[in-house]
Amino acid sequence: MSSSISEAIAFYQKKLPEHVCLVAVSKTKPTSYIQEAYQAGQLDFGENKVQELVEKSPQLPGDIRWHMIGHLQRNKVKYIAPFVHLIHAVDSWRLLEEIQKQAHKNERVIKVLLQIHIAEEGSKFGLAFKQAEEIIFNSDLQNMRHVAICGLMGMATFTSDESKVNEEFERLNGYFEAFKKKELPENVNMQWLSMGMSGDYELALENGSNMVRIGSSIFGSR
Ligand SMILES: *Cc1c(COP(=O)(O)O)cnc(C)c1O
Repeated sequence: MSSSISEAIAFYQKKLPEHVCLVAVSKTKPTSYIQEAYQAGQLDFGENKVQELVEKSPQLPGDIRWHMIGHLQRNKVKYIAPFVHLIHAVDSWRLLEEIQKQAHKNERVIKVLLQIHIAEEGSKFGLAFKQAEEIIFNSDLQNMRHVAICGLMGMATFTSDESKVNEEFERLNGYFEAFKKKELPENVNMQWLSMGMSGDYELALENGSNMVRIGSSIFGSR
């Protein structure tokens, strides 16, 4: 098990184009696994639970960039605001306001992505394109100096039907490109398109992803 983590990191370092950011998703895995990936040169790690993020981060090197990739409740933003690198799953204006408030308290700018709903299942979180548009062009956003919207994130339907996954990624990339073409507020830029996990990252890359979130094929199944 042990050496396979560094082998997996080396595999992705080689396989992914240089402009693509690999977020190693370490949820449910012990800090020793993260340490091993870090030794292999991995700096970006993703967790989907605030409590795990808060427990693990102080035990690990300070130059790790912690990504909060899961659904985030407003009342928990304060726990990660001092250190989080990027929040992937912003899906409401009220959550963004809370991030602004907590980032202000911590005297920092917190980078976020808007999560877009692309999958068919009703269970998945995320915004419709129009709702994302309403957030980005809300005139109050200009005054929220402690948040920066840096792109979009999405999760495809969990299915073996590649054409369906492909269609969903293509649609998200279409939204990403559409936003890029618009004149955006100062604290919005379309730098990152976070899509693709262990099972579908290749399709995601074909559809313009430049940030993949990979867990099980690095750290083993959960
Ligand atoms: C768990 C998780 C991943 C990684 O999934 P794998 O299939 O293990 O690669 C990616 N994104 C999110 C939001 C997750 O919760």
